[in-house]
Amino acid sequence: MISENNPPVRTRFFDTKIEFLKGVGPQKAALLNQELNIFTYGDLIQHYPFRHEDRTVFHKISDLNEQLPAAQIKGRLREMTTVGEGGKKRLVAYFTDGTGIMELVWFQSIGWYEKSLRPNSEYIVYGKPVAFGGRWSMTHPDIDLMTPENENGGFWQPVYPLTEKLRKRFLDSRTLSRIIRNLLEIAHQHIRETLPENLVQKYRLVSKADALWNYHLPQSQQWLVQAQRRLKFEELFYNQFRLIKNKLLHKTEYPGLVFSKNDLVREFYANHLPFSLTNAQIRVLQEIHEDLKTGKQMNRLLQGDVGSGKTIVAFITMLFALSNDAQACLMAPTEILTDQHYMGLKKFADLLGINLGKLTGSTKKKDREVIHQQLLEGSMQVLVGTHALIEDIVQFKNLGLCIIDEQHRFGVAQRAKLWAKNPRINPHMLVMTATPIPRTLAMTLYGDLDISAIDELPAGRKPIKTVHRYDANRASVFGFMKDEIAKGRQIYMVYPLIEESEKMDLKDLMDGYESVSRSFPDVPLSILHGKMKSKDKDYEMARFVSQETKIMVATTVIEVGVNVPNASVMVIENAERFGLSQLHQLRGRVGRGAEQSYCILITDYKISKDTKLRIETMCRTNDGFEIAEVDLQLRGPGDLSGTQQSGLVDLLVANLAQDGQILKEARLSAEAILNSDPELLQSVNQPIRLHLANLRKEETNWSRIS
Ligand code: ADP
Ligand code: MG
Repeated sequence: MISENNPPVRTRFFDTKIEFLKGVGPQKAALLNQELNIFTYGDLIQHYPFRHEDRTVFHKISDLNEQLPAAQIKGRLREMTTVGEGGKKRLVAYFTDGTGIMELVWFQSIGWYEKSLRPNSEYIVYGKPVAFGGRWSMTHPDIDLMTPENENGGFWQPVYPLTEKLRKRFLDSRTLSRIIRNLLEIAHQHIRETLPENLVQKYRLVSKADALWNYHLPQSQQWLVQAQRRLKFEELFYNQFRLIKNKLLHKTEYPGLVFSKNDLVREFYANHLPFSLTNAQIRVLQEIHEDLKTGKQMNRLLQGDVGSGKTIVAFITMLFALSNDAQACLMAPTEILTDQHYMGLKKFADLLGINLGKLTGSTKKKDREVIHQQLLEGSMQVLVGTHALIEDIVQFKNLGLCIIDEQHRFGVAQRAKLWAKNPRINPHMLVMTATPIPRTLAMTLYGDLDISAIDELPAGRKPIKTVHRYDANRASVFGFMKDEIAKGRQIYMVYPLIEESEKMDLKDLMDGYESVSRSFPDVPLSILHGKMKSKDKDYEMARFVSQETKIMVATTVIEVGVNVPNASVMVIENAERFGLSQLHQLRGRVGRGAEQSYCILITDYKISKDTKLRIETMCRTNDGFEIAEVDLQLRGPGDLSGTQQSGLVDLLVANLAQDGQILKEARLSAEAILNSDPELLQSVNQPIRLHLANLRKEETNWSRIS
């Protein structure tokens, strides 16, 4: 526990430069600075291993098998020879433990090993055993002279993230672990507990000092697990603590317009509602309505799978603003998506005589000027647009609500610019996403927002049937497509387009287009890809929407937002090249009408284990949240968001794919403390106060460096 006697700042110890540490020196320090951004003791102690090698047991050469990922063997080095020439030149040492003979092989640094290894001495080697021509061998094993300290084994060797350059300069995991041991030995007395005693007790966490020691140099596997759990808890606790604190701050600090009138909402409900809302839509609208009455700025995330009906929720939310003489805007990441939103909202807006504008990069100058003018006067009540609408020239008379679609595609700065569009009072913010996010990720990514979910599709939707077919089955797939077209349906055929291989992919798309034209000579086709002019894209899209064309051959530009209810078949070529959430997004383009819809995933015959799991998941379920969970397990959290925002979840130790339970506990703890002691005045919460002060200090240091 931190007592009154401890000064309320961290000791300078962890700010000490690493060159002063035993075993480091200026050269290694420079390397660690450059390669790993490690400057201080504090940086070094937080350079965690990503796994540990089991050095607790010794194997016998006679007991080896090829399945062993690695083995540790104690024995005597016999003679050494170099064999081969040029690139094939290698040093071979014969090594025996009395049960057999093994070859140790080096291709690099041969001279160094030749000089340093001592034949007829006892060594401990560790590496992957491979049976080669009836004899065991190990290439580039770890090799140590046997000493009284290491001869009984019994430790776990940490393996650290390193760079090639460090390894070449002999700064490998073993050297680093020796350096870190030196640090841990002198750091012990300086390590302060960062969590309140009652949390440590409640969740049976090991102390910070024990955790650091055992994460690097575990006494046993149990200790390693406990050390990791403790550090994960701490990391997630502080992540959540700051997010929740922010959220509470929003609720107390930022005023919001009070939308007490709802005339337009009532009129819309009474006379124009095109269908009855689902229970989920009603619940979400209630949550939003509550926010709009509080006098505080709303910051809410609306999650809902494709087709769950977010548009009407967005529209009704706008009506609250409009009923109170405020304006609303909706920002979407692409032109196509903006068009779709515009068309979707306009249908509703026209019923009420609302003036709704659209602003994108391709809006003509003349039209722009009219829009700018009307927004300023207030005669245009709603603006839908791409990021063109955050430009400074776009000014509103009284902007009261901003809706952002697929906000993970926008940066934080863009969000801030929208806020500033009303200089008197921050507009309410509703962020929509059709990419369901697993709970753990939502909590860390959007932990400072309130979250609403539309977790129910409108009644009467038939679940999309998804099947997997191989390239070789294409004839039967085409046959099926013909039948569906004969029934009056339309079809999407999607090809991957990935930036690095753009040329190849475009060729795939064109080849595909040709083969479809050959197989469907009488069927009018559309083609759509990102390289087309936006005018041509619009033209093709319009032809497909009006059912003039029956098959749309396209790249993933159709991924977002496109809504053609009569399209009931989605064929995805090279499905192995798409991520799970992308497949799900694409599939969401069909199943929007009354007809039974289908999704056909075509792959090569040979597919990887991961691809198989992706395809199986798609065939098994239509539930976006379930799919997002599998995606998280497969790809890990870093990749998942794959956007500007991934940087926000900067976790060193915790893994959102695995640590959901710890995250839950950490969040509950942070919430409880912020509710009962928001100013952190209680003595039990002093460690939090101190640690937050240190984190802030570290951040300032960082901003100085970068
Ligand atoms: P998304 O959440 O993907 O934006 P949309 O708002 O585009 O979904 O809605 C998809 C389709 O479902 C639209 O055609 C819309 O009119 C319709 N829809 C939305 N809500 C309902 C409902 N409660 N009942 C029936 N149809 C609905
Ligand atoms: Mg939508």
